[in-house]
Amino acid sequence: MENEQLLLEKLESSSWSPGEAQDKVLAEILEKNAATDYFNRHGLRAATKEVFRQRAPVIEYEDIKDEINRIADGEASTLLSANPITDMFTSSGTSGGAHKLFPKAEGHYAVSDYFFDLATALLNRDLPGLRTGKALYFLYVRSGRKTPGGLPAYPALTGYYNSPEFRNWLFDPSNDYTSPLEVILCTDSVQASYCHLLCGLIHARDVTKLGCFFASALVRSIRCLEAWWQELSRDIRTGTLSERVVDPACREAVEKILRPDPELANVIDEACLSGSLKGIVRKLWPSAKAIDTVVTGAMEQYVGEVDYLTDGLPIASMIYASSESFFGVNLKPLCDPSQISYMFLPETSYYEFLPVARSEEKASREEPVELVDVEQGHEYELVITTNAGLYRYRMGDVLRVEGFHNKAPLFSFVCRRNVLLSIDSDKTDEKELQTAVMNAFAALRNGVTSKEGEAIRLTDYTSYADLSSNPPHYVIYWELSSELHLEPEKAGECCYKMEESLSVVYHRGRMERSIGALELRLVTPGTFNRIADDAASRGGSVSQFKLPRCIKKNATRMLEIVESGVYQQYFSPRAPEY
Ligand code: AMP
Repeated sequence: MENEQLLLEKLESSSWSPGEAQDKVLAEILEKNAATDYFNRHGLRAATKEVFRQRAPVIEYEDIKDEINRIADGEASTLLSANPITDMFTSSGTSGGAHKLFPKAEGHYAVSDYFFDLATALLNRDLPGLRTGKALYFLYVRSGRKTPGGLPAYPALTGYYNSPEFRNWLFDPSNDYTSPLEVILCTDSVQASYCHLLCGLIHARDVTKLGCFFASALVRSIRCLEAWWQELSRDIRTGTLSERVVDPACREAVEKILRPDPELANVIDEACLSGSLKGIVRKLWPSAKAIDTVVTGAMEQYVGEVDYLTDGLPIASMIYASSESFFGVNLKPLCDPSQISYMFLPETSYYEFLPVARSEEKASREEPVELVDVEQGHEYELVITTNAGLYRYRMGDVLRVEGFHNKAPLFSFVCRRNVLLSIDSDKTDEKELQTAVMNAFAALRNGVTSKEGEAIRLTDYTSYADLSSNPPHYVIYWELSSELHLEPEKAGECCYKMEESLSVVYHRGRMERSIGALELRLVTPGTFNRIADDAASRGGSVSQFKLPRCIKKNATRMLEIVESGVYQQYFSPRAPEY
């Protein structure tokens, strides 16, 4: 508690002088890496901040892919970084069909600890009752691989959960998790999910918060109750662990805490018997006060699903981070999801912000500005310089300055820079697609119920630019909470509503017939889970998995899975007005 107070005071003091902290971080990076090949090539030896900002190019992954791959193949780290690069992180982004690789920074796990500690301190500050209870966190790891040069490569969170820093963190009595370390470190995600749920249920009466880094994995984990509740209840009733858990370390750790508890088993049966998961979190974990999970950016889509499962428990979206670095924390954990913003911690990496240009001509002239120079209401793409060999690297994340805490800017997450769908001169980004889908679903939802009489929910969606039709057209895949056959007229209006919400350039394309009518394809419930399962079976991270908002043409496997779930398709009946 005292420690939490100190952390909050440190956060407050960083917010008063972000400029000084940024200058210090950059000076250290410049001094330390002066002798690297990269600095040599760009004339950055002994560079001041001004020289660095003048000479170092603003780059993207493709610009340093070769150096990263050469280090991964066994060449010296000094190609990029003075710190010996001993491990690589695999991010959820891809480059040429393969995972992107990023060198792990020295001290990365200490930074992770710091951010998770801060998030806990902020949550405890605003919800004092949390501190006294246990936490059910769905944390997953993947088995790693070796690069051709023998460096271990794995997702950043997998590295952290396997680190001594996390071990200390987990065994700190103030982080009282329901799952033992052996469950967190189980590389079989099905067994890990089962054990997380079981351990969470064993301690059901004491759980005050549930969480997972991204909301998509949280929803997937809780939804496993649908298939497993009887087995879980039987385990708890009899005090014996299901045969499905075969990982020896996991079995041993879970068996240590499993005791027969028929009373609790009755509670589980009663809560799950109806078959509906509405409000299941409150029913099974009656003391839960908050859900700790990221619901901004691509995760915004899951707010409705989390609300459904928890009957509206507050959602705290605490951390903005990536494989490359940690960036910010949310100072108002209990704010409405639409109001979430993150304060960047100025001591971690050096940040610059590339103004998001509204025109091509302006784009070529824009220069990144420093953290202290961003302006309220403006949108920027994040550019980072880290102590792991990334210099002025474009993250591809677009952020908006919502205001300031003391002198530190607060950023909301707008979208990924990359355009999702484009057929002609139209360029639809993640945010535009999300708005179109949400508008259309809001119009459809009224009065539409499932067979069981429940309000229908949009579980998830993705899209595809079908360039094989004439003219090419957008295909939007929706997975509804139950298999529903829509009236063709209503479904057509839904397609129209999506088109209407898209950009004026799209509307022009439709009018000029360079873009065909938008198509909605409904897929059976569970289809998108199969994509996550498929990614996991090929070594992808479960906790970092995000359903791509657009399926690229060469992602044939993903497309096959989605197509195998399609049960109905509809087209927009007319072009939107231009
Ligand atoms: P990865 O490196 O695979 O973990 O992905 C990192 C990316 O996830 C970031 O660049 C963002 O696009 C996204 N991300 C991480 N945290 C957040 C957040 N709090 N809100 C929105 N998007 C996030």
